[in-house]
Amino acid sequence: MNTRMNLSNVFALKEILKYTSREGYAVGAFSARYTTMIRSILRAGQKCASPVIIQISQKEINKYQVAIDKFSHEFYTAIIEEGIGIPIALHLDHTKDFAIIERAIEADFTSVMIDASDKPLEENIAVTREVVKYAHDRSVSVEAELGRISTTDFIETDSDGQLYTDPREAKIFIEETGADALAVSVGTAHGPYEGKQPNIDYQRLQAIRAAVKVPLVLHGASGVPADMIMRAIHLDGGGVSKVNIATDLEAALLKSLGYDTSLTDARLSALDNEMLNKAAEAVEETVIQKIEQFLGSQGHAADFNCIRGDRE
Ligand SMILES: [Zn+2]
Repeated sequence: MNTRMNLSNVFALKEILKYTSREGYAVGAFSARYTTMIRSILRAGQKCASPVIIQISQKEINKYQVAIDKFSHEFYTAIIEEGIGIPIALHLDHTKDFAIIERAIEADFTSVMIDASDKPLEENIAVTREVVKYAHDRSVSVEAELGRISTTDFIETDSDGQLYTDPREAKIFIEETGADALAVSVGTAHGPYEGKQPNIDYQRLQAIRAAVKVPLVLHGASGVPADMIMRAIHLDGGGVSKVNIATDLEAALLKSLGYDTSLTDARLSALDNEMLNKAAEAVEETVIQKIEQFLGSQGHAADFNCIRGDRE
C-alpha cells in the first residue's frame, strides 16, 4: 500500500508521544471498534487541533469482525478525503499473535502493542524483543506491557488478575527489549468498573516514570474520574503520555443508537445514514470531551511541524 510515506502527519507512536512530557499533556488512543468510528475520531482531533491515535486490538478484530486491511484503508482514505492535518498514528492495541502484528505492519500500521504480560518476565522480554526487532526494521514503534491490567469485559484483552508493575523490573524490561512505550498496571482496569472504585497508585507510577525513559501508557481510562487521570498525566517528573479510551467510546455510540449490546463492524456499517450520522456525532463529541476534560492535548498539533502542506 505504502500510503504512509506520502503523508507527513502520520507518525510512529514514539514520534507522536514525543512532546507529551515536556508540554504536559497526553495523547488519547481511541479504540475504533467499528471502522466507521475512524472518521469521527479524526474529525474530533481536527476540531481540537490535537494529535490522536486510532487503535484496534487483536480481540476487537475478532469480536467485531474487523478486517485489518480494510481498517487501515479506511484510516488512510479518511485522512485524505477529510483533509486531516493533525498528527496521527495508527496503532495495533493488545496483541499476542505475531502473525497479526505482521499483517498490521504490512497494512501500514505505524505502531503495534505486543502483550506478553501474562508470561514470566524472562519470556515477556524474549517475545517483546523479537517484536521490537521486527517492527523497528520497518520503522514501526512498539508498546509492551509489564504487570497485568485487570479486566471486567475481556474485550480488549483476556488476561485478568491485577499484578502491579514493579519499577525495578520495568527498568530491566525496557533496557532489555528496546520497546518504545510501556503499558503499566497501576490500578486501572479494562471495561466498566461496575461499582468498584478505580484507584491509581501514583507513588508507583512516579517510581516507574523515574526508572524508565520511554513514554508510559495508561490503559482502562474509561470510568476513571477526569481529575484522577489528570493527576496521572501531570505528576512531578512527568506522568503518562498515552491514555487508552475504549469502553466509553463504544458506550456512547451504542447509546446514541439505543442499543445495549455490541454489533459487528458489518452490521453497524449496514445501518441507514440517519443512524450512522447519530453514531458519528456521539463518537466525535465523546472524543472532544476526553481531549478537553483530561488529556489536555487540544492545540498541541502545533508542537509538530507537520501540518499537511507545510512541509515540502
Ligand atoms: Zn489495554
